[in-house]
Amino acid sequence: MRKPLIAGNWKMYKTTADARALVKGLRSQLDAVVDREVVVCPPFTALAAVAGELRGSPIALGGQNVYWEKQGAFTGEISAAMLVDAGCRYVIVGHSERRQFFGETDETVNKRAQAAIAAGLVPIVCVGETLQERETNATFSVIDQQLAGGFRGYSAGQPLVIAYEPVWAIGTGKTATPAQAQDAHSYIRQSFAKRFGDAAAQAVQILYGGSVKPENMSSLMAQPDIDGGLVGGASLEMESFSKIVRYS
Ligand code: PEP
Repeated sequence: MRKPLIAGNWKMYKTTADARALVKGLRSQLDAVVDREVVVCPPFTALAAVAGELRGSPIALGGQNVYWEKQGAFTGEISAAMLVDAGCRYVIVGHSERRQFFGETDETVNKRAQAAIAAGLVPIVCVGETLQERETNATFSVIDQQLAGGFRGYSAGQPLVIAYEPVWAIGTGKTATPAQAQDAHSYIRQSFAKRFGDAAAQAVQILYGGSVKPENMSSLMAQPDIDGGLVGGASLEMESFSKIVRYS
């Protein structure tokens, strides 16, 4: 059985003080939760502070991006080893905001994911279609292309989480219906099985992301191929993120 995984993507929000306060609150609500994995992904500037606050907690730390080179003259970038050093176990790779605003391609997503795996991190690789792509029935071909490009060089059994995040549902308040999300998740799992085999496909956790809220988490999680959530806006408040994690 795949363990549910719920990750909070704090994006470019939270000062160090805000981050500490949020984590203290989350610990009070979530440290006792053992049947699901919880990850928080603060901005780089708050990683060290959050790692300190999380000491002794089952809540894991993740980065929001990673560069593929080990070190060097790459101003503004962060290596996988630096994330490990800061206490991270996970890293989000290929978020649609990175693809949209920072020129991320399937090729660079692939390099980032490979670098993360090589350093012992678990990449959370994001895929998903735009509204125009959905409306022109290109959803599955876009996902296929992103999987083919993003997972080049990946071998079955390496640590990996996939996040299906329809771009039209991110930060818009429009959630995919549970049936729409299930269709995409099932497609991703089948496509993963074709590439890496059934056992790897049955083991890989596929998260849904796109306006996840306490009110819609249970119906999403009732779908057989939805294994958790990648949560943006609703992860910024202790109460909403805790309720999402504690869905029943
Ligand atoms: C995200 O940032 O990955 C996301 C899904 O954002 P939101 O939950 O705000 O739609």
